[in-house]
Amino acid sequence: MRIRWLKIALATALAGLGSGQLYGQSPKAETIFVGNFLTLDPGHPQAEAMAVSAGRIIAIGSQASVESFATSSTKRIKIDGVALPGLADAHIHVEGVGEELERLNLRGLSKQQILDKVAASAKTAPSGSWITGGGWDQGFWHPAVFPTSKELDSVSGDHPVALSRIDGHSTWINSKILALAKITRSTPDPDGGRILRDAAGEPSGMLIDKAQDLLRAVIPKPTPADREPRIRLALQQFSEWGLTSVHDAGVGLETISIYKDLLNRGELPVRVYVMAAGEAARAYYLAHGPEPDLGSDMLAVRSFKLFLDGALGSRGAELTDPYTDAPQEHGLELMKDPDLERVVRAAREKGFQVNTHAIGDRAVRRALDAFQQGGVTANDRFRVEHASMVTNDDMPRFVSMGIIASIQPVFVGEYSRWAEDRVGPSRVHWVLRTRDLLNAGVLAAAGTDYPASDSGRALDNLYCAVTRKGADGKPPAGWYQDQRVDVDQALRMMTQGPAFAAFQEKNLGILSVGRYADFTVLSANPYQVPIDNLKTLTIQMTVVAGHATFDVNSKH
Ligand SMILES: [Zn+2]
Repeated sequence: MRIRWLKIALATALAGLGSGQLYGQSPKAETIFVGNFLTLDPGHPQAEAMAVSAGRIIAIGSQASVESFATSSTKRIKIDGVALPGLADAHIHVEGVGEELERLNLRGLSKQQILDKVAASAKTAPSGSWITGGGWDQGFWHPAVFPTSKELDSVSGDHPVALSRIDGHSTWINSKILALAKITRSTPDPDGGRILRDAAGEPSGMLIDKAQDLLRAVIPKPTPADREPRIRLALQQFSEWGLTSVHDAGVGLETISIYKDLLNRGELPVRVYVMAAGEAARAYYLAHGPEPDLGSDMLAVRSFKLFLDGALGSRGAELTDPYTDAPQEHGLELMKDPDLERVVRAAREKGFQVNTHAIGDRAVRRALDAFQQGGVTANDRFRVEHASMVTNDDMPRFVSMGIIASIQPVFVGEYSRWAEDRVGPSRVHWVLRTRDLLNAGVLAAAGTDYPASDSGRALDNLYCAVTRKGADGKPPAGWYQDQRVDVDQALRMMTQGPAFAAFQEKNLGILSVGRYADFTVLSANPYQVPIDNLKTLTIQMTVVAGHATFDVNSKH
């Protein structure tokens, strides 16, 4: 579908003005949407119609009041379902989602099912070509232990095979790759990573965290020509999931330039808030300054993504006290304090937001310490990505510095499978404490971290936040139910939360005059269905700046 909504300079210039001021006289509606709107605007929570001009809402309210903005050429679109402000994902990996759509999907599979899938692929793939897959989780297996290269060798023929774990923090490889990457018993563990070894000291086929760089060094590098279709595939998927905005949690300059190309061609169907990652991107942007609004808020580059630690599943999350199920391990420190403090200072000086991946309680504390050292205030809107383990002592520090917790309700699925094993019965109360965060007054934005989680569907994330069950409905009684939030809190974390976390709350997050006409139409009112049914709601339509990017009725 060709999309025309992007080059709307006028709308940008007039951002934030009320409808009466837009054109000096009553503006004319290009489109009027008629149906049931839940605006999340406390002053006017419901509406029957919305008038849109140049991508923005010029009127919203009763049908009669909105009709006064109509002209003879106004298009009318009837909404079938219940419209909410456009759903956003505050932490997702766009290209990863596209890649996932292209490669073997191993989610929820047993080890045998995975081996069967690789065997089938090895028979049809061109000789010697790479077979890649991802999404497996040994937490589903019995016994729940890491797999080995030998198991893969038996089904992989002459193909290098690399299967990344669900969190992306470890990869299962076959012996072909061990040979290509020259990983032997004498290869030392790199800083911030581990090569798992068998009882005889030989590499066993699992690379943890930075040890995966050894694999990346030999994996054929995708060209921009490989990557653009992948990104487009993901963006299309987002529209089907009802997403109007995504925060891409860590990309380099090449990806940013793909986004710019898509934007310039009018082919970006979802707003993308980029977290720039890596030395090169940081150096470039520190020299050139932020790009807070490209193309009427379709694209923004004004934040840096940093990684302080790894993931809890692979025991890479950095803990103050050792892992309960691995008493010699504290996790990984992927960035040292002085480096972190240096980036925090440089970023603040040049007007960049800093978004630090921090999962373990030690990493979260280091992030907060560095922010405090750097004089961070609420105006900076710095973020802790994940904030999976927050101690009671650190909770108020989020509030006092206005640090945003960028959390993933969908993680309840994987955490329910093994978090208690990793951290034990007392520290488990620090894990994914969504309700505690909100009660303490912490600003929260919800995302899925997909594909490093069980699901990227926005409605699954809503369901998980409200039920404390994983996207697969387990555990049936929910995991630490006291951390449930209600539908309204969850929806605000999926709309206003991400808007604020991206400095876009004046333009996005609620449906009101002057804001962009971004909305998501659900099959039923999420406030009224039994919470277990939230997952079964469907997306009827996704609208960005007044244009449908997905419509269930015109799906081919
Ligand atoms: Zn992530």
